Amino acid sequence: MMKLNDTHRKHYVAVIGGSISGSEAASVLSKNGFRVVVFEMNALPYGKIEDGLPSWHIKLRDRQQREIDKKLDQENIRYVPHVKIGETMSFQDLIDNWGFTAIILANGAWKDRGLPIEGVEKFRDNGLIYQNDFIYWFNHKHEPDYKGRQYQIRDNAVVVGGGLASLDVVKIFMIELVSERLKSRFDIEVDIFTIEKSGVDAVLEKYGVDFNQLGIEGVTLVYRRTARDMPFKSPRDQSPESIEKAKNVSEHLLKTNLEKYKFRFKPLHMPSGIVEEDGALEGLILQKVEIKDGKVMPLDNETEVLKTDMVISSIGSLPEPIEGLNYKWGSLKMKEGDDYHVFGYDNVFAVGNAVTGRGNIQESKQHGRRITREIIDKHLTEDALEEWLTNLNTSIQESTSKQIHSIVQEISGKDIQPDDIIDSILRKTEGLNDLHGYSNYAEWVEKHKPVRLEDLLENRK
Ligand SMILES: Cc1cc2nc3c(=O)[nH]c(=O)nc-3n(C[C@H](O)[C@H](O)[C@H](O)COP(=O)(O)OP(=O)(O)OC[C@H]3O[C@@H](n4cnc5c(N)ncnc54)[C@H](O)[C@@H]3O)c2cc1C
Repeated sequence: MMKLNDTHRKHYVAVIGGSISGSEAASVLSKNGFRVVVFEMNALPYGKIEDGLPSWHIKLRDRQQREIDKKLDQENIRYVPHVKIGETMSFQDLIDNWGFTAIILANGAWKDRGLPIEGVEKFRDNGLIYQNDFIYWFNHKHEPDYKGRQYQIRDNAVVVGGGLASLDVVKIFMIELVSERLKSRFDIEVDIFTIEKSGVDAVLEKYGVDFNQLGIEGVTLVYRRTARDMPFKSPRDQSPESIEKAKNVSEHLLKTNLEKYKFRFKPLHMPSGIVEEDGALEGLILQKVEIKDGKVMPLDNETEVLKTDMVISSIGSLPEPIEGLNYKWGSLKMKEGDDYHVFGYDNVFAVGNAVTGRGNIQESKQHGRRITREIIDKHLTEDALEEWLTNLNTSIQESTSKQIHSIVQEISGKDIQPDDIIDSILRKTEGLNDLHGYSNYAEWVEKHKPVRLEDLLENRK
């Protein structure tokens, strides 16, 4: 591969969020000769791979993190940790004062969709837990310096949702409950990784314990559709055969998980209210529904109360709003007829979960790759660049101390950004990185790797 030198390097593009889709976007840009600054709100750029996938996915997590590292640790890429756009630095600042040719949002979907029940929010973290907070806690609670929210696993909890993440949540409850009861009632220690891998029955059989002896009533997964409608498997295409196949897979997957982890499943019900007593959550009112022409329709006078003092809402995630961007129904608003070009800006785009709000690792990666190639082909051409320069904010024009036409000439000729802008981007990113003692990607990653539960358990042996 041709080695890039200064004359081959093209302009600087900003990527917000460095995880699956962000690292893919940065890598595609870098390979095409662009310089990239990746702003990441956390120390490490692992997003949902670190804080979303439950920690038992050890191999998958490690493999994906190594891939992200490989993509970001490139000469053309400047990684800037601990910068949350919208908090540490405003989006407007990025637009007005940096001079990036394009900005690609790869900030994922970290805001839980609110549970649509009147009055339920007052129980937030005291009866009502949202999925993103819950899994973050589950993945990090063993770390010696963990200072985040604290939750307790309770029997009889109700999980509302129907996607893969809600399945993970019920699994966490059952695995933790079984592990705790085996310890407290039988003085048997079995770690969560073993229960997740073998299943509850196999573990109990090994120790000669009957499930009923654990005294667990069980956790319930409430879903407004049926097991066949669960989006565990995306159909290969929209043909009736592919859709039917995907539905069969979803149904089978749920059945296997019900048998393996022994939770309960309540399909065709949706929460419609809460029961409270003396200010405490006592139950969830469930409305029975039917599916008519694909739509969820409530059935008259068919409600029931599910007694519980803990509800976990896992009904989907949306991008966390960033001031200066527009949102519609909680999703990032795009230009009309476009699914990646962000409304209100010529040079702002979005990839991965930030657009889709869902999807798996492969889909997010492919989305990041495909869309970034399209951005390069359609929006980072010389013509598009000229238009960008003409619209540049005056403060940057002044700081470059050049007339626009001469800048355009310079870029067209050499295919690089004006030195003043590049110098200013380098100075600013260096200033931000100095604040946290960042100088080298590989060293930084090594220094900030979280304490792993599997290592703690191994050391305890
Ligand atoms: C519970 C759960 C289980 C899952 N299990 C699987 C599975 O088993 N297999 C599978 O393939 N997929 C799974 N997925 C889906 C998969 O993890 C995601 O689709 C994928 O990781 C999304 O990648 P992303 O880069 O688009 O978003 P994210 O991973 O969310 O990355 C966004 C990045 O942006 C950063 N960021 C956010 N806001 C800002 C800001 N304002 N400024 C700067 N940085 C910011 C974040 O810190 C993060 O690093 C699961 C998801 C969840 C929630």
